[in-house]
Amino acid sequence: TTGLMAGKRGLIMGVANNHSIAWGIASSLAREGAELAFTYQGDAFRKRVEPLIQSIGASFLAPCDVEDDASIAALFDRLAAEWGSIDFLVHAIAYSDKEELKGRYLDTTADNFSRTMRISCYSFTALAKRAAAIMPNGGSLLTLTYLGAERVMPNYNVMGVAKAALEASVRYLAADLGPQGIRVNTISAGPMRTLAGSAIGDARYVFRFNQQNSPLRKNVTLDEVGGAALYLLGPLSTGVTGEVHHVDAGYHAIGMPPAPRNSE
Ligand code: NAD
Repeated sequence: TTGLMAGKRGLIMGVANNHSIAWGIASSLAREGAELAFTYQGDAFRKRVEPLIQSIGASFLAPCDVEDDASIAALFDRLAAEWGSIDFLVHAIAYSDKEELKGRYLDTTADNFSRTMRISCYSFTALAKRAAAIMPNGGSLLTLTYLGAERVMPNYNVMGVAKAALEASVRYLAADLGPQGIRVNTISAGPMRTLAGSAIGDARYVFRFNQQNSPLRKNVTLDEVGGAALYLLGPLSTGVTGEVHHVDAGYHAIGMPPAPRNSE
C-alpha cells in the first residue's frame, strides 16, 4: 500500500457503529494505508462492527470490555501473538449513567463517579501501559475529550470531571512514555451525533448552539476529526506530545457569542 500510514499498524477501540468517532478515525487511517485491528464492547456490538471492518479489508476483531482487566490482557496477548508490535492506539471510549448526564453535577453518586472515571479515564492509562509494551519502535496514542473538561457545559457533569482527569493523564503519560519515543495526545472534538453524544441531556440544543456560534458556523464531521487524528497518529506530528488539540470549528476560542441581530 501507499499513503501517509503505509506500513503502520494500530488498534482502534470504541467503534459502536458507523457514526462512532472511532470509525471516522479508522476510515481516514485506512485510506492512508494503515493496517487496523478493532475491538468491540460486547456481543450486541459485534454484528454491527464486523461488516464495517470488512468493508475496509480489516480482519482482526476482538472483544474488550475495559472494566475487565482479563479482557484487556487477552486482547493484548492476542495482538502480541498475531502482530508482534503496533505503531498506534486510538481510545474512543467513555461511559456514564445517562441519569447523571442531566441536571446538576452536585447530585453525582459515588458509584457512578467511580465507574465513569474507571471507563472514561483510567482505561486509557491501563491501555497505554499495555500498548507501550508492544511498541518497540515508538508510537502514538490518542484519546478523545470534550470542552466540558475545561469549562462547564450543560449536563456534561461527571463526564466533564472525568475528561479533565483524562486530559491531565495525557500529560503525565506523555512524560512517562516520551523517552521511549511514544507520543500521547488528545483530540477535543466538538459535539457530534453519536450514540454516546446523544446520551447527554439537551444534546440537540448543544449541537445547534455550536453550529450557530462557532467561528466556522458549523459542527465538525467524522472526516474532520479523522484528518486531525491522521496528523496526530502519523509522521507529520513527530514533534507533538501532551497536547489537547481542539477540532471543534473553533468553538473553544469563543468567550461569548455576539448579540443576536434580527436583521442578520
Ligand atoms: P460512541 O457511542 O460511538 O462510542 C463510545 C464507545 O465507547 C462505544 O463503542 C462503546 O462500546 C465504548 N465503551 C463504553 N464503555 C465501554 C467499556 N466498558 N469497554 C469498552 N468499550 C466501552 O460515541 P462517540 O461519540 O464516538 O465516543 C467516542 C469518544 O469521543 C468518547 O470518549 C466520547 O466522550 C468522545 N467525544 C464525543 C463527542 C460527541 O459529541 N459525540 C465529543 C467529544 C468527545
